[in-house]
Amino acid sequence: MKLWSLLVCFAFTSFGAPTPSVSPLSEFSPAASEPVLPPLQPWNGKSRALVVAKDDPWITPSEKTDLRTTPSYEETIAWLKKLVAAAPQQLQMLSLGKSPEGRDLWMVAATQEKDFSPEALRKSGKPIVLAQGGIHSGEIDGKDAGLMLLRDMTVRGTKRDLLERVNFLFVPIFNVDGHERSSRFARVNQRGPEMMGWRTTSKNLNLNRDYAKVDAPEMRAMIGALNQWSPDLYLDLHVTDGADYQYDITFGWNGAGGHSPAILEWLEKTFRPAVTNDLAAAGHIPGPVDAPNWIDETDWLNGIKGWNAEPRYSTGYGDVRHLPTVILETHSLKPYHQRVLGTYVYLESALRASGKNGAALRQAIEADRKRRNPVVPLSWDVDQNVPPGKIEYKGIETRAIPSAISGGLRIEFTGKPVTATIPYQWQSRVATSITRPKAYWIPAAWSEVIERLQIHGIQFERITEAHEMKVTMYRLEEAKFEAEPFEGHMRVKAKPVPEQRAERYPPGSVRVPTDQSLGDLAGVLLEPASPDSFFQWGFFDQVLQQTEYIEGYVIEPMAERMLATDPRLAQEFREKLAKDDTFRASTKERLRWFSSKTPFVDERWKLYPVGREE
Ligand SMILES: [Zn+2]
Repeated sequence: MKLWSLLVCFAFTSFGAPTPSVSPLSEFSPAASEPVLPPLQPWNGKSRALVVAKDDPWITPSEKTDLRTTPSYEETIAWLKKLVAAAPQQLQMLSLGKSPEGRDLWMVAATQEKDFSPEALRKSGKPIVLAQGGIHSGEIDGKDAGLMLLRDMTVRGTKRDLLERVNFLFVPIFNVDGHERSSRFARVNQRGPEMMGWRTTSKNLNLNRDYAKVDAPEMRAMIGALNQWSPDLYLDLHVTDGADYQYDITFGWNGAGGHSPAILEWLEKTFRPAVTNDLAAAGHIPGPVDAPNWIDETDWLNGIKGWNAEPRYSTGYGDVRHLPTVILETHSLKPYHQRVLGTYVYLESALRASGKNGAALRQAIEADRKRRNPVVPLSWDVDQNVPPGKIEYKGIETRAIPSAISGGLRIEFTGKPVTATIPYQWQSRVATSITRPKAYWIPAAWSEVIERLQIHGIQFERITEAHEMKVTMYRLEEAKFEAEPFEGHMRVKAKPVPEQRAERYPPGSVRVPTDQSLGDLAGVLLEPASPDSFFQWGFFDQVLQQTEYIEGYVIEPMAERMLATDPRLAQEFREKLAKDDTFRASTKERLRWFSSKTPFVDERWKLYPVGREE
């Protein structure tokens, strides 16, 4: 690939033609530059009144164009700085860190507490709500909604009462570098804004797959903020991809079978009804399930399904660290103004719901953070023995017709609203789990992993003198690497086979107790069977490599001696030869078998270095 691009460059230079930095549009058929989207649903919701008059001095950049466009990073930050300067009693702006391209990750704190420190906000007793826009920066509705709401809470004063009951932290753009990769062609399945940013960061990482492995500096900054400010509610603002339906806004979280049952109950019984009512009252069409998948890919009438997100996602991460986390998905096929206004109503309603029910919210968080489940779930699936539930669903009429283009079926949405009661499945059965050890022991050498635990805010003790411990360790058998990189890693799975050992940990090794509120998180990061473990992300690949061997001219005569003096071994060898064709045919395997019966074998081959203190 490298060589190929070098040749192209060279070819251009020799012909004297400049190398274009982007493909010119003339390369594409004119028919390819306008997306063909399903028919638009008419909408005339009450929330349109939230847009200020054109001569309002505090009109937002997006309102200036009737919510058709979204401002650049520079414009956004300049507007926010002006707003903060005009309301210094209630607003402060701070940088959480820098992106790879050097942009500040700004957060606005809105409070009545005068003192803007995390401690003062906590002491106020009012819930702290943190909302982030643009984790996928083409999905930027949250930013433009948040600017309007911050203005109305402060200088304009129409929503000033909100801060009497909550503290609001707002990150307008999480993926700041991706936000500046702006074009008309960033999200073809989405109705506006006219220009929008890109899904992934300047290093092509998807931040909503990075919560567990924390590779991106943006993510490290955000998790630093979660640790420092300890919000009571974390709102992650997106726009969907996927099917057409009537809803213009859906939201959700990890469901039954997860790590935070008390928080789940608060979200289901308090948050969902309150926010759903407010959205409907403002003329929006809130959905009961966040961006659902179809059970049968050709027809939603056969049912929809939901799943518990893994900790690489915001909602999975929130669940495992007992931080109430809600993902919002406005519907990509609705126009930008409708989506921004829906997000505004949602944010306002979420602030009201937490303000009004703050004590119950904090109690739920406390209950989940104090719980020490003896069994920690790692993944979920659908319980096939339980018939699916039923749900009333507002869909759009769908046709599946044979396609000459793909050779398969083509799904068409006719634009006609259809409401039906359909099957509804949730992946809530725990598929894999582990028992909770007292602690995990990580040898000093694995500093990359220890550093990441620290970023998550997981507590551990570092030993200063060598320490010998009885621990359970895993031998990682049958390792299989994925064929292609995913999020900058070659992912790997293996079968962890436990063994008991006395292990000596050198100074600088760490003991991670699971008796802490982030104990479940430590488990899902450190157990190799966990889909978001550091092992499966490839941080421990080295242990799968055999690094010493015995030369053939040494093992051959040794094997002869072993066969001659050990009849049991000789018998085992004869049986293996008779039964195992691959073994019989492989000179390498046969010599390796003898090597493995000597004390010269690499005893730590495939041994996962993290120990479990039971
Ligand atoms: Zn998204």
